[in-house]
Amino acid sequence: MHHFQYQDGRLCAEDVPLEKIAKEVGTPCYVYSHATLSHHFKVFDGAFDEVPHLTCYSVKACSNIAIIRLFAKMGGGVDIVSGGELFRALKAGVPSQKIVFSGVGKTKEEMRMALKVGILMFNVESEAELFALNQVAKEMNKIAPIALRVNPDVDPKTHPYISTGLKKNKFGIDISIAKQLYLKANELSNINVIGIDCHIGSQLTTLSPFLDALERVKRLYKELVAKGLDLKYLDLGGGLGIPYHEEEPPHPTEYAKAIMEAAKDLHCTLIFEPGRVIVGNAGILLTKVLYLKQNQEKNFVIVDAAMNDLARPSLYDAYHEIFPVKKEARDTFVADVVGPICESGDFLAKDRKMPKVEAGELLAVMSAGAYGFSMSSNYNSRPRAAEVLVKGDEYFIIRERESYEDLVKLEKIPAWME
Ligand SMILES: *Cc1c(COP(=O)(O)O)cnc(C)c1O
Repeated sequence: MHHFQYQDGRLCAEDVPLEKIAKEVGTPCYVYSHATLSHHFKVFDGAFDEVPHLTCYSVKACSNIAIIRLFAKMGGGVDIVSGGELFRALKAGVPSQKIVFSGVGKTKEEMRMALKVGILMFNVESEAELFALNQVAKEMNKIAPIALRVNPDVDPKTHPYISTGLKKNKFGIDISIAKQLYLKANELSNINVIGIDCHIGSQLTTLSPFLDALERVKRLYKELVAKGLDLKYLDLGGGLGIPYHEEEPPHPTEYAKAIMEAAKDLHCTLIFEPGRVIVGNAGILLTKVLYLKQNQEKNFVIVDAAMNDLARPSLYDAYHEIFPVKKEARDTFVADVVGPICESGDFLAKDRKMPKVEAGELLAVMSAGAYGFSMSSNYNSRPRAAEVLVKGDEYFIIRERESYEDLVKLEKIPAWME
């Protein structure tokens, strides 16, 4: 369920017409619905109510501190993958004991930062990282709580760029050697082994890869418990998909039911790291049509948002619905929706059958809440878009549009060039 609906022929975010936001904030602009965000978090987290669990929102999906704060206020933790995300999480008020830290390339500086504030758990992704973490913890006279992120070698059947749980992927520790490394970790002076972690990919639309992974992880869990390890947490990562177009992913309650059934013989707290399923359909990218253009082969709708604002179509060939903000009966045509960037890969939609739009009108690029703003860049020296959070009939600018001054703020001309 989402709260982007037409009211009197105008697309609204909850009760705020998108036309009003475009007029007052400008375009391109990300617009999020507070009701949708909180509903999605509540549905996901609530689905696991009957078992001990912690929902750690994956910050990289949408990293604005106002959005992190919203989930923290609902009792959520976070999954982070960098020192920058740790900084954001703390700034947003997430209790450090609800933070898990994933990622294949944590630096010693990032480890120090996380040890200092006392996070719940490091999800360690290699033997070398394990030894580095033990060393850093020793220097600080601290004990690092860890899980090993195991790579269960199951095919999530998603886009190759967002698949992470196959042997050929860089993520995690091969499950066949994980047991050995666990026993090694258990001997290290400044490491406390407290869990097992896996995350097999993103935008999964069937349950079976999750359940296959869980079966393999469970086998390892039982072997380790038999060896005397005290595993308190089983972190099953994120990855549940959303409908962008014609996908029919399982509902979070279905996912929860299947996981709880499969994990019922384990005595531990379950951790989840959902990103996309919480924020994906809670945000849109609002953009304005600049020009229409036609060549012998194609129609082009040139808009003021581009691949620097929303990279998913260029990067993953991802499909996003595009709706005119003004709903009226009109002819359709087939067009490419493209941005102003000097790259042929700069498109938001290809060969899309859509209403014949006009220059000057507003379009909503749907399902843009996850991996939208957080993946945006300044390519072509385009200031990044504003972010707006709507609640009922009010809206708040949760990130100002960048200025030209912001673009060059950190740059310097050497004195010898003067
Ligand atoms: C990206 C990521 C997630 C979130 O994935 P979604 O598909 O957005 O749910 C969770 N855990 C880890 C380790 C990740 O890298």
